[in-house]
Amino acid sequence: MTTETLAFQAEVSRLLDIVAHALYSERDVFLRELISNAADACDKHRYLALTEPEKAGPALDYAVTLTADAEAKTLTIADTGIGMDRMELVENLGTIARSGTGKFLETLSGDAKKDFSLIGQFGVGFYSAFMVADKVRVTSRKAGAAEAFAWESDGRGSFTVAEADQATRGTTITLHLKEDAAEFLDEWRLKEVVRRYSDHIALPIKLQTAEKTETINAASALWTRAKNEVTAEQTKAFYESLTYDKDDPFATLHIKAEGALEYSALLFLPNKRPPDLFTPERQHRVKLYVRRVFITDDCKDLMPTWLRFVQGVVDSADLPLNVSREMLQNNPTVRKIRSGLVKKILGELEKKAKPDADHSAYEKFWEAFGPVLKEGLYEDFENRQTILGLTRFRSSTQDGWVSLADYVGRMKPGQKAIYTASGESVEAIAASPHLEGFRAKGIEVLYLTDPIDEFWLPMIGTFDEKPFQSVTRGAADLGEIAADGEEKPAEKPETTPDLAALIDRLKGVYGETVKDVRVSQRLTDSAVCLVADEGDVDLHLEKLLRQHQR
Ligand code: ADP
Ligand code: MG
Repeated sequence: MTTETLAFQAEVSRLLDIVAHALYSERDVFLRELISNAADACDKHRYLALTEPEKAGPALDYAVTLTADAEAKTLTIADTGIGMDRMELVENLGTIARSGTGKFLETLSGDAKKDFSLIGQFGVGFYSAFMVADKVRVTSRKAGAAEAFAWESDGRGSFTVAEADQATRGTTITLHLKEDAAEFLDEWRLKEVVRRYSDHIALPIKLQTAEKTETINAASALWTRAKNEVTAEQTKAFYESLTYDKDDPFATLHIKAEGALEYSALLFLPNKRPPDLFTPERQHRVKLYVRRVFITDDCKDLMPTWLRFVQGVVDSADLPLNVSREMLQNNPTVRKIRSGLVKKILGELEKKAKPDADHSAYEKFWEAFGPVLKEGLYEDFENRQTILGLTRFRSSTQDGWVSLADYVGRMKPGQKAIYTASGESVEAIAASPHLEGFRAKGIEVLYLTDPIDEFWLPMIGTFDEKPFQSVTRGAADLGEIAADGEEKPAEKPETTPDLAALIDRLKGVYGETVKDVRVSQRLTDSAVCLVADEGDVDLHLEKLLRQHQR
């Protein structure tokens, strides 16, 4: 037998240092992590058995078994999942593969106390075993393979890999518990942790003691149960297991679709932005199941990118069990499910955004995800008007957020357009001379501060039949709108011969560099301002584009 000693990737060593000193109260999440890996491994095997049965080997019941040995002071977590070969042991348990852990490391502040408490929020996967163990041994036999391997480490810089004996497929993790982690030998403590974190896991988690073996979780896929059979605690624990978010989600959708298309779903809209929301790799986190069998967490078509903050599970009864990941691309059933889910999500958001609902909750959600939702304005033609109704803006006359309906309700007599101003921040826009004339007449202007605004706005055209009009563009004819307290709009100022001469002069000076020089009513204090021509790229967008070209 050959035993190979290998060094951990530098990042792993750093992570292990932090993990080993994790705060006492956060430590029990190690069990959540190891059970979730075991359940994933069973899901993967189930999928393999359906798609490539020749590689799957004999059928075994899927389960995760916990065994505590008080004398040896060990806790083992064994599964009948897909297993790992030698190379996979080295790669999966010696490097940082997953993005969540990388993000964890990026977020570290250097303040030990803060950093330890982040562990619970991020979940650092397999390495969390070292929070409670000073030695970890993993034996694994991959599906279809004859040989098994053992991985072992004390979490200090290196690990070993050697051949091992293991009669059946799957992975067994043995934790040699630290002196102060003996609580995890206790049956009741284990049950409590499993119930808290892993009750929703859709396969049995068993606790084996000298006397008996008992299943200690509910082991039924929450999403397939009727709404009234699922408690709020179970739903919340499920949400936390998906997001590591200890607070309540903003919205929970428990959906059962019947009829032409049959599926169930349990979806969550969070309150807080995930750290990778604006990275190009970010995708929705909705897992696809077919009749309770996990298929993939990478079905892009299941949810549009403008809802990439949605997390949860969809279980379809209309896809074949052995559906391959390729078959899921451009799949009409998946598309129909998506369209149904999008409608449900928008419907829920409409409910939450109603004027009589809790404003501050919706506004908090909007602050986190509004810029993402607005991508839907140009991507989803069908739902555009609904999404428009959900948008919120800062404005020149109101504190807080305003909806387009609010705005339209406040429009002045004679006002035909919804006026908008774009810029980097509310403060920057508010200080712009373009707003002077509007302010003088008490006309409300919506502030657009997200880069995305420049992309949807030109495509939208109208809301409630009112066109959008940028104050930094075109003629912006304020002459027909009466100022506050006035009956009729003031007479347009005559273009005096002096002014005409000045304009001629300016045109001569600027020549080709400007398109036109005009008399304007949008200024009161400032002498001049730059505007874009109707149909030209708006000034703020032009600036953004120029920054990108650099
Ligand atoms: P993640 O689960 O997010 O990928 P982990 O650190 O928890 O990150 O696990 C790393 C990888 O190790 C997993 O992706 C998986 O490939 C492998 N792994 C861990 N535990 C098991 C197990 N019980 N059976 C099979 N593979 C496992
Ligand atoms: Mg994991």
